Amino acid sequence: MELFIDVILPIPLQKLFTYKITDVEASQLTPGMRVVVPFGKSKLYTAIVENSHQLAPTAYQAKPIYQILDKSPIITKKQLQHWQWIAAYYCCTLGEVMRAALPSALLLESETLVVKNQLFNDESLLTDGEFLIFEALQHQAELKISDISNIIQRKTVVGFIQQMLNKGLIELKESLYQKYKPKLEKYVKLNPKYHNSNALNTFLNDLKKAPKQSALILQFFALNPKGTKTLVANDLLTKAQSSVAVLNALHEKEFFEVFYEPVDRIQNSDETVGLKSLSKTQQVALNHLKKAFLKHDVCLLHGVTSSGKTELYVSLIQEALKQNKQVLFLLPEIALTTQLIIRLRAYFGTSLAVFHSKYSLNERVEVWQNLMGHTEKAQIIIGARSALLLPFSNLGLIIVDEEHENSYKQFEPAPRYHARDAAIVLASIHQAKVVLGSATPSIETYYNAQKNKYALVELSERFGDGLLPKIELINLKETYKKKQMNGFFSNQLLEEIKRALSNQNQIILFQNRRGYAPIMSCTSCGVVPHCPNCDVSLTFHKLKNSLQCHYCGYSEPLVTNCKACGNATLTTQGFGTEQIVAALQELLPEVPIGRMDFDTTRGKYSYQKIINDFQLGNTKILVGTQMLSKGLDFSNVTLVGVLQADSMLNFPDFRAHEHSFQLLQQVAGRSGRSASNGRVVIQTYNPFHQILKQVQAHAYLQMYQEQLSERKQHRYPPFVRLVKIILKHKNAHTLFNASEWLAKSFAITFKDEALGPSDPPIPRIRNLYAKTFLLKFPKNQQLENSKRALLIIKDRFLAISEFKSVRFIIDVDNY
Ligand code: ADP
Ligand code: ZN
Repeated sequence: MELFIDVILPIPLQKLFTYKITDVEASQLTPGMRVVVPFGKSKLYTAIVENSHQLAPTAYQAKPIYQILDKSPIITKKQLQHWQWIAAYYCCTLGEVMRAALPSALLLESETLVVKNQLFNDESLLTDGEFLIFEALQHQAELKISDISNIIQRKTVVGFIQQMLNKGLIELKESLYQKYKPKLEKYVKLNPKYHNSNALNTFLNDLKKAPKQSALILQFFALNPKGTKTLVANDLLTKAQSSVAVLNALHEKEFFEVFYEPVDRIQNSDETVGLKSLSKTQQVALNHLKKAFLKHDVCLLHGVTSSGKTELYVSLIQEALKQNKQVLFLLPEIALTTQLIIRLRAYFGTSLAVFHSKYSLNERVEVWQNLMGHTEKAQIIIGARSALLLPFSNLGLIIVDEEHENSYKQFEPAPRYHARDAAIVLASIHQAKVVLGSATPSIETYYNAQKNKYALVELSERFGDGLLPKIELINLKETYKKKQMNGFFSNQLLEEIKRALSNQNQIILFQNRRGYAPIMSCTSCGVVPHCPNCDVSLTFHKLKNSLQCHYCGYSEPLVTNCKACGNATLTTQGFGTEQIVAALQELLPEVPIGRMDFDTTRGKYSYQKIINDFQLGNTKILVGTQMLSKGLDFSNVTLVGVLQADSMLNFPDFRAHEHSFQLLQQVAGRSGRSASNGRVVIQTYNPFHQILKQVQAHAYLQMYQEQLSERKQHRYPPFVRLVKIILKHKNAHTLFNASEWLAKSFAITFKDEALGPSDPPIPRIRNLYAKTFLLKFPKNQQLENSKRALLIIKDRFLAISEFKSVRFIIDVDNY
């Protein structure tokens, strides 16, 4: 009887692939384990076993697997079930989900490296070809498959590598347990023989002539009166002000046992503080939440900025932990939330683990293993959207903080999932509860709450005596006309800045553009320098004295004369964060100013430094982009200034108004978070815009109702479902033909549900032209059928030879 497994390969293939296994392998393999398999002519991949069976594939001859990498599954059944939902809903492959989910240390593949098996020593067993490889590996630590193919001058080397693996000559440098090196910690323990006090006294008496050793032993017992605990060697030595030599002496006398154990790289402090007691309003809200969960699985916590949503999350987390459940805390952008992590650490200590793409591979593998192993360390996972794909076994609660944030949606590459929505599905797989928290919920979520699909709990006052900040709109048209401007700052904004400074308070200034000036143009001929790869103008960065493209990263040095007409008449239009800092520094030369935007936050710790500097008062004013709107809590900020609110309102997107409201409310929410009254000054050319009026009045509900009726009228979510199709190609002509073909095909299948083709706001990025289509499906229609039809069209499209190299991107819920 032949045995087979179906595996998930980390590539965009719709189908699972089938491989042959031996009886012995069958006895070792279970779904969720990793195997190395050959694919194509000479590729090797790490794949995950999905199931096993006895059905030989009909379309191809099943190949044997190369190697089993795990002793037990590294993914859970529930996880797999969740991946399957993501693949089906977002029209991508399981392999793409797997690639997004597995830290790459667990996902080693065809670029696979071959290394020498150190245990191999019998050269006499080798064939000529094998000997060549053996020799090569004496000089080079590792070889790629293509190197091997060159050395033995053969194209297909799969069988050859297999043979070397069988002989034990080589190993694939793929297996987790070789690549992953745990960090070790040195520990000290008392030899059990000295638990007996007679033995101990005798030993101490004999030590009279070694005062340093006695001192170390005294300290050991001071930290650990019964002498039964295991201590970290370094802690002991520091406290005792002793040295390794002293410890070694006691180790040699077999008084102490000294040994190494792996520790998590992600060091957590053990010390925790008690929970804050909730205010009356908060307690009422918490009770509502708990009651809501009796009937609903999802609850929207709509709480104004600084109302103490985090404290409510903390109470809920604690209850989940008491029931021995795991908790997932999702954040829109983890790099920005050091403050929150510190707060949660103080409550939960080592049971909190952070999952973060900026962490090293080993650190991420450790979180993975802690979860798989149900250790105490990983009961609460805090992370950005990809933390959703971790191997949870027993989730009780998911918190999606700032649920309205756009960064929960992944746009590139697939899986193009929305973490909030995928979290709700994950919770239902685990029968867990979900809290969606926001001061400015997304229209869709609020709509679901209104329709009673989700429960709704409101928290409408700030904690303590804090009032919502007073928001003022400044009409830039008038202030320019009346000459009440100092560069970009209206007299009033400047006055308020000075007043806040003289009161020893701090200020946040917001401008949603980075760089110095977004447009450089020539006053003689009007030419604007553009990116050679993208259809956008270049942004001037003064510090680097260069022109940069914010879409592809292209940059060129600024020349003083216009490239087109040669005149030295280049001038800037508009302004970004860099220019604001420069202008402000001229007006207030003594005041230290910080800047937080994409350009100043590239390093691993740069956010933290900027935030620390501001928190400690080393900087008095912080200028930044929308990064400033996310969850920062500075008690000393009393003034927030928005330099120009207009461009975001005019962005061509059906959510532009909703987003502007959210962004402005959130930025405003950074002001006056402690008792002193906060102020916000918004400069705009259009102070009568309804969104700005609503921001000013903190009128979320009014904004919601108005936007909702517009969405209904123009058929946008939540009244329809959107699927966006993007075609991309380097050749505009091919792209044109492709979009014509697709338009016809869509018209036949989807009739008037299909819109397009249309040009995106930037028709070319990185030398790829793009066309977009929008499919609008009624809410009550079975979406699966439409998606199936769409995938069939995609297959037909890609089967046409002219369109083979066109990128066909499907983006479900593309907003
Ligand atoms: P939100 O998440 O709603 O913006 P936070 O949870 O950050 O609000 O709370 C705002 C501030 O008020 C924080 O500094 C927090 O420590 C403080 N705070 C909130 N609730 C309490 C409480 N019950 N006791 C003491 N301080 C609180
Ligand atoms: Zn570019």
